[in-house]
Amino acid sequence: MNVHLQIRDQVVIERAGIQGLLEALTANGYRLVGPRVRDGAIIYDELLSVDDLPAGWTDEQDGGKYRLRKRADGALFGYAVGPHSWKKFLFPPVTRLWSAKRTGGSFALAPEQEEAPRYAFIGVRSCELHAIATQDKVFMGGKFVDSVYKARRKDAFIVAVNCSQAGGTCFCVSMQTGPKAQTGFDLALTEIVEDGQHYFVVEIGTEKGAGILARIAHRGAGEQEQRAAGQVVERTASQMGRTMDTTDIKELLYRNYEHPRWDNVASRCLTCANCTMVCPTCFCSTVEDVTDLTGEHAERWRKWDSCFNVDFSHITSGSIRPSTRSRYRQWMTHKLATWIDQFGTSGCVGCGRCITWCPVAIDITEEVRAIRETESVRSSNPKTNGPDCGTT
Ligand code: SF4
Ligand code: SF4
Repeated sequence: MNVHLQIRDQVVIERAGIQGLLEALTANGYRLVGPRVRDGAIIYDELLSVDDLPAGWTDEQDGGKYRLRKRADGALFGYAVGPHSWKKFLFPPVTRLWSAKRTGGSFALAPEQEEAPRYAFIGVRSCELHAIATQDKVFMGGKFVDSVYKARRKDAFIVAVNCSQAGGTCFCVSMQTGPKAQTGFDLALTEIVEDGQHYFVVEIGTEKGAGILARIAHRGAGEQEQRAAGQVVERTASQMGRTMDTTDIKELLYRNYEHPRWDNVASRCLTCANCTMVCPTCFCSTVEDVTDLTGEHAERWRKWDSCFNVDFSHITSGSIRPSTRSRYRQWMTHKLATWIDQFGTSGCVGCGRCITWCPVAIDITEEVRAIRETESVRSSNPKTNGPDCGTT
């Protein structure tokens, strides 16, 4: 490691230096994953060079709406989060857990022995760092550690990017998860494109980050450059497309299991599960066994699942959440209330994906607001406010 570089130091790399950063990571054995334009969206996929980044693209987002638009300044990271999140790399949507082969009158089990990819994630936003920290608790923080997640997570190198513009559905400021990356990164970039200059102020988060940075051209960040980076984050914080009042939110939702708003949202919700698929913290899965036609070979697969699917809560006597009302309430109350009891943190990081990608534009911030604004009326009638089993 270069002895001159310390954790929390800030340096500058020029726009041209980003290719050097990617090459240094590749030379260190990392597989690069980052933002690319595909199918009319900015998604996360493998990167080969800086040319793969979405230079000069931005997005416009609102409830049920997502559009790409060209921007004039050639910024590499001038967009908000898209439909993908990093969970698809750490907790893959489909994973084979084991396979089995018939041998005589018995069968032999072969556990899956995947060599976990050594990822470098390029362009991780602050809300996404919080989402990764949340999933770390879910998959590695308890008695039972998820070996697939742990193997992929333990060596991941994280290049964060402080947001230079908020999306129309972002509310990280309300959730205290952004827009500035505070922790959980190896390097954090702030992109500055102004006065004909294009450079990045880089904050070092770990010794691993310092080691990579030492391999590429950089210089110390001056006062003016650090100030410019601070202004980028301040400007973004002032542009949030949404807000959510989180005051006593757990108690608010616990008091309102029977609020009529659940019927209102159920009349609009398609139970399509999009919101859970795009959410960077949702972690539910199911397990499926498959056999070939000869019966000689069987496999067990884990797949993402969703509390919006009626079969997800199927027990011996049927689904315990047969109605849309009960499933939407389960999802939102878990995100914003029971998650706090379970993991000590909110299950929502304010990324806005569930709002943007909901086909009927259901908005979690609006649902909380609606319950909060009408709950004083309901609080006067405790008979209708008590918790139930969540089944209706
Ligand atoms: S809230 Fe929207 S995205 Fe989520 S299940 Fe309902 S319709 Fe689908
Ligand atoms: S609930 Fe919605 S806004 Fe919150 S983290 Fe999940 S997708 Fe993002």
